[in-house]
Amino acid sequence: MPPVNPQILGKLEHSQKVLETAPSEHSTPAKLPSRNPTRSFWIDSSPDANPLAGQGSQDPLPSEADVCIIGAGFTGVGVAYHLIELLNNASLSIKHPLSIVILEARDFCSGATGRNGGHLTPAAFTRFAQRQALFDTVEAIKSYELEQHTTSLLVKIIEENGWASDVDLVEGGHISLLFTEKEAKNAHNDFDMARQAQLNLDGVEWFSKEELEKAYGAPYPGFRRPGYNVWPLKLVTKLYQHAQAHARQYASLSLHTRTPVTAVTHETTSTYTVVTNRGSISCSRIVHATNGYAPHLLPFLASPDGIIPARGQVMTTRASVGTDQIKISSWSGNKGFAYWFPRPVTRDTEKPLIIIGGGQEAAAPSRELYVDDDSETHPLVGKALREFLPSVFEGKYDPHSEPEMEWTGITGYTKMGDPFVGAVADLLAANPNRDLYKKQYIAAGYTGHGMPRAFGCAEVIAQMILAEISDKEWKEPDWLPQRYLTWNRRVE
Ligand SMILES: Cc1cc2nc3c(=O)[nH]c(=O)nc-3n(C[C@H](O)[C@H](O)[C@H](O)COP(=O)(O)OP(=O)(O)OC[C@H]3O[C@@H](n4cnc5c(N)ncnc54)[C@H](O)[C@@H]3O)c2cc1C
Repeated sequence: MPPVNPQILGKLEHSQKVLETAPSEHSTPAKLPSRNPTRSFWIDSSPDANPLAGQGSQDPLPSEADVCIIGAGFTGVGVAYHLIELLNNASLSIKHPLSIVILEARDFCSGATGRNGGHLTPAAFTRFAQRQALFDTVEAIKSYELEQHTTSLLVKIIEENGWASDVDLVEGGHISLLFTEKEAKNAHNDFDMARQAQLNLDGVEWFSKEELEKAYGAPYPGFRRPGYNVWPLKLVTKLYQHAQAHARQYASLSLHTRTPVTAVTHETTSTYTVVTNRGSISCSRIVHATNGYAPHLLPFLASPDGIIPARGQVMTTRASVGTDQIKISSWSGNKGFAYWFPRPVTRDTEKPLIIIGGGQEAAAPSRELYVDDDSETHPLVGKALREFLPSVFEGKYDPHSEPEMEWTGITGYTKMGDPFVGAVADLLAANPNRDLYKKQYIAAGYTGHGMPRAFGCAEVIAQMILAEISDKEWKEPDWLPQRYLTWNRRVE
């Protein structure tokens, strides 16, 4: 473990922006994922959307594995993908192929990744001034570089493999509406500070209220930044299939869905028993890729300093006008925070289907924090989502129309809004059992903004595992913020 970065650690306690009103007395670990989740557009709107849904659910579990990944979302599949890519590219002399097993409680990719808003939008400069003041310029810049790295890598993989139409990749950019003068002032300040710090701001475009109203029909100023939309489940399916097809002589990869992990026990400091409802596996390394559910297996994360499950809600609604008037970009706006985008249409006459999420502020005072059950929707959040678009784009949405689908999903929030990435042991400075967690890794806590981060964080975990296996020192990528690393984020 490299030395703790005192500059980062010392400042963390002041960076409790996201959850400053979160109840602090909560300490009940998240439950296992619910057995009867709400039906999401990505998983349930078409019968062949999830070909891996029940993969390996009937197959006997292996008795042992080198790496057990818990969770088959963007992070878990990302770790397997990167491990296999790294193994294929590193000329290692290994004794036997690395056996990698993914264990998933429900159907493949049925957590947040299969239930989210579909936005693959790297942050461009928002919160730059705050991050620069809180940490330093280099650390602030890395916040954006990690997201740009992750997004451009995913887009490169999609394009190189010819998956763009399979995963509905849309390069429409993302428009942020600025509803109040304060928001507009902050956004301009962030932009100016980021420009002075020489952050890459290519593709950012500002709109006055008049320009935005003329072009898009919403009477507010705003700015546009580069961004994409995808069908997240289909992308993660492709990544899994690609990883499995490329495992070659260095690795084997298997997936066992409908196999909840109920406990991880320690045989020695380097061997663990992963207990599931279908038997146990002896594993040399564990990856916790369980995001909002992570505290279920790591109960010391069940505190406001750890990972807080939070429920997000999304629905689909038809616009009253065609794509020519709606345009194809994705959007967000802070009037009771919402994010939305029109799905690609197949016929010119078709009215676009809008996927819109957000509205948690309507569930006051909890804002759906500490809610880990995605089998229900919240009526007040649903009401806020139904009212949002008709109130912002006059005449383009029917205020009386009911959603075609509506669902929830569980995210993992952290106080500072950034994930934990690294060895679990490093979170536990003062815990006498910390050595037992040395070969357990975690990448979780994306605080509702995981699409441009999870795959990059998964890459870091894969690098760490490979360094450990080959007895080499892990080299930190230039684009990784220091504050993501577990050794800068003690919880005990
Ligand atoms: C409603 C909603 C909207 C969102 N919209 C966006 C968006 O538009 N853009 C964006 O960037 N981010 C968005 N996010 C956040 C983003 O989806 C997540 O950050 C990201 O998908 C996290 O991926 P993950 O693989 O870490 O977690 P998940 O996809 O949640 O995967 C974790 C998996 O672990 C499994 N699991 C949990 N416990 C166990 C166990 N004990 N045993 C076995 N398996 C277990 C779960 O079933 C789940 O499949 C949204 C999230 C939600 C919920």
